[in-house]
Amino acid sequence: MTDKNSKKTLKLCNTLSRGKQKFEPINPPEVGIYECGPTVYWYQHVGNLRRYIFGDILTRILKYNNYNVKRVMNVTDVGHLTSDDDTGDDKIEIAAKKEKKKAKDIAEFYLKKFKEDFEKLNILDPDTWCKATEHIKEMIELIKILEEKGYTYETSDGIYFDTSKIEKYGELTNLDSEDMEAGKRVDMKEKKNKTDFALWKFSEEKGKRQQEWDPKDFGAEWKIGYPGWHIECSAMSSKYLGKQYDIHTGGEDNAPIHHNNEIAQSEAAFCVRPWVKYWLHSAFLTSGNKKVSKSEGGLFTVEELEKKGFDPLSFRYFVLNGHYRKQLAFSIDTLKQAQNTYKRLKNKLREIEDDGEENKEYLDKFEEAINNDLNTPKALAILWDLLRDDQAKGKLKTVKIMDKVFGLNLDEEEIKIPKDVEELAEKREIERKDGNYEEADKIREKIKNLGFYVNDTPEGPKIKKYENE
Ligand code: AMP
Ligand code: ZN
Repeated sequence: MTDKNSKKTLKLCNTLSRGKQKFEPINPPEVGIYECGPTVYWYQHVGNLRRYIFGDILTRILKYNNYNVKRVMNVTDVGHLTSDDDTGDDKIEIAAKKEKKKAKDIAEFYLKKFKEDFEKLNILDPDTWCKATEHIKEMIELIKILEEKGYTYETSDGIYFDTSKIEKYGELTNLDSEDMEAGKRVDMKEKKNKTDFALWKFSEEKGKRQQEWDPKDFGAEWKIGYPGWHIECSAMSSKYLGKQYDIHTGGEDNAPIHHNNEIAQSEAAFCVRPWVKYWLHSAFLTSGNKKVSKSEGGLFTVEELEKKGFDPLSFRYFVLNGHYRKQLAFSIDTLKQAQNTYKRLKNKLREIEDDGEENKEYLDKFEEAINNDLNTPKALAILWDLLRDDQAKGKLKTVKIMDKVFGLNLDEEEIKIPKDVEELAEKREIERKDGNYEEADKIREKIKNLGFYVNDTPEGPKIKKYENE
């Protein structure tokens, strides 16, 4: 943790207070983070993944600041309907029907893919993964508390939260109920207020859905059904992080409905305010000025990017070049540019020898940038300034420290050099010693084409990995 008066004090932009705020956790040095995770009915696209890279950077920056981070991520494997306001069908059930598979297998398959993406993109694993279907009991218990306190009512299709019973609904996004209606026609059905939302949905017909539960098994009297989407996040985050915790993250689209609903039900049930101290939201990845989504096109998965010849970490580099609260325009061309710059960065580092020093001046600037609401574009610019500074010492060690936050695998382990490359390097050394520099350069090019680089050092030639830019 840094000195409170220092320029390097961590500041975060809190959606709840609508401004940049000094980060002061409830119980330092412990920090609890809950991240709204994926709905596992399909592959995650680059837009979704930008949101998770943001959560990863936040976690790494907190760790860099010596906090003990406990990060929890949920996995939505039931109850997320095609529309966020309780209409449409359950996304997992639709996928199961379409792919003629069990809902459980659909969820498991796409969760596995998601975890593979995490690994490829160097996103740290959360300390706890929690699936909605494994927390039905906790959700029902929470709804029962709300019922006992008089916050719920029953309609023909479920148990709903009555938002008129709380003082300030929609505080996170500053919405009053008229705003909620603006530009959007909400089908009220039997809801008392337009902003009311489902806590428990009844199955239309018993046995029609693959995933349904009888609340009687958990001591509640409602009809057989499944949980609404929002209740899982309140139930699971309180289970793993307590009834009040530090940070909750999501994409910008989560704030108006999902997060306002999470706040309403949690503050009503737990009698705490604010339920979560800091709310952080990342902006969309756009394609041709539109949000990247299945319906709008411009959707790529990590696997598709790999098939196009991209290293997934070049997408990470691309994302870090934008500030998380600003929309970022994605295209294959801009990704290509990012990939080239990323390769150039790695090659440049391979040419540098470790002088064992650390550069405090550049590290200070770097820390100031990352602690100023996670300014990764500025932090990357500082890294490049350091590499371009001919007078600067400690380049290699300093970049390795910075990479704890960037997570770009800039700190490469010693790699195995193939025999043919080693032989060429020996041949080149003989030519060089004999003064045949032209021939030596030709061999160096050959080595480069094989993906390696020969660096002449006072202790003799050293071979490192090289990527064609
Ligand atoms: P889902 O799996 O559909 O629940 O979405 C997972 C996360 O991705 C949500 O937190 C969304 O806010 C986020 N998301 C969806 N589309 C985009 C996008 N184009 N850019 C950034 N984040 C997105
Ligand atoms: Zn959530």
